[in-house]
Amino acid sequence: METIRNAINGKLALSSSTRSQPVFNPATGEESAVLPLSTAAELDEAVAAAKAALPAWRDMPPLKRARYMFKFKELLDAHVDDIARAISKEHGKTHDDALGEVARGVEVVEFACGIPHLLKGEFSRNVGPSIDSHADRQPLGVVAGITPFNFPAMVPLWMYPIAVACGNTFILKPSERDPSAPMLVYELFKQAGFPDGVLNVVHGDKEIVDAILDHPDIKAVSFVGSTPIAEYVYSRGTAAGKRVQALGGAKNHMVVMPDADMDKAADALMGAGYGSAGERCMAISVAVPVGEETADRLVSALKPKVEALKIGPSSDPDAEMGPLVTKQAQERVLGYIDRGVEEGADLVVDGRGFSLQGYEDGYFVGGTLFDRVTTDMTIYKEEIFGPVLSVVRTESYEEAVAMIDKHEYGNGTAIFTRNGDAARDFADRIEVGMVGVNVPIPVPVAYHSFGGWKRSLFGDHSIYGSEGVRFYTRLKTVTTRWPDDIHEGAVFTFPSMK
Ligand code: NAD
Repeated sequence: METIRNAINGKLALSSSTRSQPVFNPATGEESAVLPLSTAAELDEAVAAAKAALPAWRDMPPLKRARYMFKFKELLDAHVDDIARAISKEHGKTHDDALGEVARGVEVVEFACGIPHLLKGEFSRNVGPSIDSHADRQPLGVVAGITPFNFPAMVPLWMYPIAVACGNTFILKPSERDPSAPMLVYELFKQAGFPDGVLNVVHGDKEIVDAILDHPDIKAVSFVGSTPIAEYVYSRGTAAGKRVQALGGAKNHMVVMPDADMDKAADALMGAGYGSAGERCMAISVAVPVGEETADRLVSALKPKVEALKIGPSSDPDAEMGPLVTKQAQERVLGYIDRGVEEGADLVVDGRGFSLQGYEDGYFVGGTLFDRVTTDMTIYKEEIFGPVLSVVRTESYEEAVAMIDKHEYGNGTAIFTRNGDAARDFADRIEVGMVGVNVPIPVPVAYHSFGGWKRSLFGDHSIYGSEGVRFYTRLKTVTTRWPDDIHEGAVFTFPSMK
């Protein structure tokens, strides 16, 4: 069985840790690899390599750094199928869904290819007599990224292409549950010819995360994962003096107005609610029809579609969704369905007890639909991260907006309507970071930036796009007087243009 290795200073290295954990194929429940949980000493080695690579990499002209990035993009394009297969094998998502994940990650690499332009500074001539001023953005140094299981290739690619294009060197700590895809992408990064130590990968659990957060030579940390861990990473990292962006969990609502095209709205909810078995931070997990009649029509449209969901392993080209990532995730989601029933929600389609011939040990849960969910129920308040869609009926648009604003999470949301006034008002007022108008999963493209509000993001910067460049750099402003033959004597007043 394969043992997953770290990548330190351009070499693959077997961890000497005595602790390890298995990696599973979620469609079959079989163990597919062993992941050693690295030690803090191994992180030290990776940081030392990143530190050693930093001076030459930071000082390399951005155009040359961009050329490595172009090569990396070509290699990624040539291997999309392999990466997608590696994702599906350990995550469980369908092959087409995994291809979409890779494509969205590659778009960030394409964006990073434009780094010479993105790092161009500002210049002002004659800010005073013979005085000019220029400002530019300089890299931070060694920076780190800690990533979740649900996008094992894309989320690391949200981080290090921009960080290294800016002139930083990087330590990646991928999810323990699906480490093979980020390693395959690392191999392509290495083949692109980046100098040793520019990107290092160290696998592990809390021990490595804590070591990253406390390490004096790591200047910034990007984190994507669940909210309790995001909050922890943000507090501990910033207490250690680091710049931290920590993206957390979500509960994304989709408002369906009475004038919405019901077929389109129901199809949108199917893809956004059940795609990737609901294991997306931008999944829609709450449908909010406005008015009883809209709700009745929506539930009638959804019920047969949920019952007809095609569920299967990633090798089945007809499958619309796969299994959950681990047995624990499966048990957690089943527990939420039990809880919804206990708390009085109306279970319209029950995904418990779903079983697939030949894959009885896989971590599958059938598509589940709850109606008449109320805001005091656990299944409304908490992120389920599974194929469970809740319908919360509201009497008015204002009630829908107030409910969404009150939720602790503010990652994504959407409205389906033909009414431009309602759409514009919603986009303006809603307390959520990413909004879709007739678009159910409004994940910003690579040249915009991704980030939620409220307890879906801790820190001041969204991720990738121009916010990514800002996060991985700091501003320096230089004021220059030239020629130097002007001598005014000592000036004791504050310099001004008076
Ligand atoms: P997770 O929080 O369990 O793990 C994320 C990372 O944190 C992993 O690398 C893991 O090793 C590490 N970690 C886990 N427990 C830790 C602990 N106690 N101390 C220190 N580090 C720890 O998240 P997950 O289950 O891998 O991913 C799913 C979650 O991520 C969902 O909540 C989802 O909404 C969220 N997510 C958010 C975004 C976003 O952009 N906002 C994107 C993808 C996923």
